[in-house]
Amino acid sequence: MKEKDFGKLTDDFDREHLWHPYTSATHPLPAYRVREAHGCRIVLEDGTELIDGMSSWWCAVHGYNHPVLNDALQEQMRKMSHVMFGGLTHEPAIELGKALRRILPEEFTRIFYADSGSVAVEVAMKMAVQYHYAAGRPEKTDFVTIRSGYHGDTWNAMSVCDPETGMHGIFGPALPARYFVPSPRSRFGGEWHQEDIVPLEEMLVSHHESIAALILEPVVQGAGGMWFYNPEYLRQASALCRRYGILLIFDEIATGFGRTGKLFAWEHAGVKPDIMCIGKSLTGGYMTLSAVLTTDDVAQTISDNYPYAFMHGPTFMANPLACAVARASIGLLLESDWKQKVLALEAQMRKELAPAAALPQVADVRVLGAIGVIETKHPVDMAFMQRRFIEEGIWVRPFGKLVYIMPPFIITREELSHLTSSLVRIVSEMPAEE
Ligand SMILES: *Cc1c(COP(=O)(O)O)cnc(C)c1O
Repeated sequence: MKEKDFGKLTDDFDREHLWHPYTSATHPLPAYRVREAHGCRIVLEDGTELIDGMSSWWCAVHGYNHPVLNDALQEQMRKMSHVMFGGLTHEPAIELGKALRRILPEEFTRIFYADSGSVAVEVAMKMAVQYHYAAGRPEKTDFVTIRSGYHGDTWNAMSVCDPETGMHGIFGPALPARYFVPSPRSRFGGEWHQEDIVPLEEMLVSHHESIAALILEPVVQGAGGMWFYNPEYLRQASALCRRYGILLIFDEIATGFGRTGKLFAWEHAGVKPDIMCIGKSLTGGYMTLSAVLTTDDVAQTISDNYPYAFMHGPTFMANPLACAVARASIGLLLESDWKQKVLALEAQMRKELAPAAALPQVADVRVLGAIGVIETKHPVDMAFMQRRFIEEGIWVRPFGKLVYIMPPFIITREELSHLTSSLVRIVSEMPAEE
């Protein structure tokens, strides 16, 4: 273990003035200064290289500073960085739309570009409510979801996040109250337990008249618990939605673009939703962009009835730079052998994280696609963890009891081995009291 002067890696201005995500303004843990990033490496100010285990929150699937993505941005920038999308259109938006149409089910004929994942969720929820309004069912304005979900930090997105791990405790009375059912306990790859679907069925029987849509993350619940559940749940939930006249929204913001071993997670179940949100790795981690996709039925119902337009329109809708880099990123992904790569990462993580399961600190180890999770018995000590990660030369950011990695797909075998072995070692150093 090499000695490190952590003081030199942080910044006084940053500590005194810049707020970081989910962090105290007055007693923050250190935020390390990054000088540059390339490939699977994040380089700190003093030259320390960290192997990236986070893909910058599910985004940087091709790694950092990719020449093809850099070129796409520079080329677009020379033409225009932005024009309004109201009454105007442009090649990057059109070409990205074509690329999305090629990789998503044919039924998704309509694409709405938005700024971020949270905004996509807001748009999807508004779409569901306006759909029912347009169809003469104005009383269908509520939502049902499963616990342990995460859908973003804006108001309505927050309202369908897990009521315990989400922010309901603080914002509770100010948030719209939604219907929650337990998340399925049947594991991905394990046996299906029919009782998992019962709470949803009972909920819909009682409340379908006021519910516009069921929203959930297909197969992988991300920031709400890093849980992988049985795709059978989606098949049965979809049938129930159809029976009770409720739209199905899949939030594929984290799962899209290969992360789970399929291009999109709906493919694990073969179930297509009515509305789908994508974001995060859409631009290969270069900038913020999201999209909401829907069917002719939803788009036509909204557009054929008062007020004849979908009532949403972000200022930076279809930003040409973001669209250009997204289109290039999809191109890169499709040209690569992403599927084999993700399956290889999955196999390697299964093997190399398995020893963690025997540690007294660990409750569960699970791997799906390019996502590896060590769930500890007690919440981790972030200050200790962060320091040890830097010392070991890896970048990981756990939350609560979840120590997880989702590396860029371009990570090498050796880099991933370094990442997993350091991770298991650091978890083994945690206090192991029962
Ligand atoms: C990250 C995430 C969001 C929110 O996306 P932002 O771009 O952070 O607003 C929504 N849903 C899921 C499943 C996510 O993982």
